[in-house]
Amino acid sequence: MTVSLKSQKILWGKAAARCAMPECRRQLVEDISETDDPTLVGENCHIVAERDGGPRSDPTMSVEDRNRYANLVLLCNVDHKIIDDNEAVWTVDRLKVLKAEHEAWVEQSLRLDGAKMRDDTVYADYVDEWVRLAHLDEWTAWSSWVLGSGQPRIWVKVDEDLSALRRWLLGRTWPGRYPSLELAFGNFGRVLQDFQETLHEHLEPRGKGEQLFTCKFYQIKQWDPPLYASLAAQYNFHVDIVSDLMLELTRAANLVCDEVRLHIAHNFRLAEGNVIVQRGPDMELRWVEFVPRYSLEETAALELYPGLPQFYDDRDHRDWAVGRGRPNV
Ligand SMILES: [Zn+2]
Repeated sequence: MTVSLKSQKILWGKAAARCAMPECRRQLVEDISETDDPTLVGENCHIVAERDGGPRSDPTMSVEDRNRYANLVLLCNVDHKIIDDNEAVWTVDRLKVLKAEHEAWVEQSLRLDGAKMRDDTVYADYVDEWVRLAHLDEWTAWSSWVLGSGQPRIWVKVDEDLSALRRWLLGRTWPGRYPSLELAFGNFGRVLQDFQETLHEHLEPRGKGEQLFTCKFYQIKQWDPPLYASLAAQYNFHVDIVSDLMLELTRAANLVCDEVRLHIAHNFRLAEGNVIVQRGPDMELRWVEFVPRYSLEETAALELYPGLPQFYDDRDHRDWAVGRGRPNV
């Protein structure tokens, strides 16, 4: 997403989801999936073009600033095209006036729920930060290192950001408007804590140090078959529970995305789709892709992550589990 969810929420809120052209002002929807009339799909029109060479471009403006609320005006796709085709008429300054006048019109003539808009902006800001620190855009890639090859490993950068995410989630104050969304974030945070703590039990840096590897602690020097067998069983158990926690974390991430779509933005990550994991390679060197999810029953009954001791027993009730049972200690 080039425009953050936060900028999107502010733009659509202040424009009351209407086209900014005074003779149009039609009510717009955020995504084509919500309508069978494509002219009703709203477009975040860049005042200074998003790319160099586009309409009203300004190479001196940073890409970040180009995608901020201050540089966006909400239009229907018909007016967006008219404006972009008439650069000489629709200058940067004129578009800024158009936007300001539309927002003033909205304030005077429509009764907007200001408290809801403020809360939605807070949530949207949190969601943007969660997407970034959880590396949601690279989830399939980083999780495949955790799940693949019988030896969990993780990129140092991802591991550091996940630690930062845990602290950040603990420090959030929530608006309290959407309890089920907040619960989904809380669930994600609890899985994340147990996932990271379990993964960290046997991690060591290797090679150039860009990745942390699970140490194969069963590889002992002395000839001691019973000890070797016992350590190997412990190792396999550890790999399985790390994998199952990775799958549970993916379920938790998909639940957060569902809740964001329900309450904040219908089109949140529709283009990217579900959070997917890959597992493999299997005996035939194939990688299997799938979408771990809580079932509707689990979500409805709030049978989400129960904490690690209970999760040992509960994991094989989920849609996919790698191991089962408790550690032999
Ligand atoms: Zn319009």
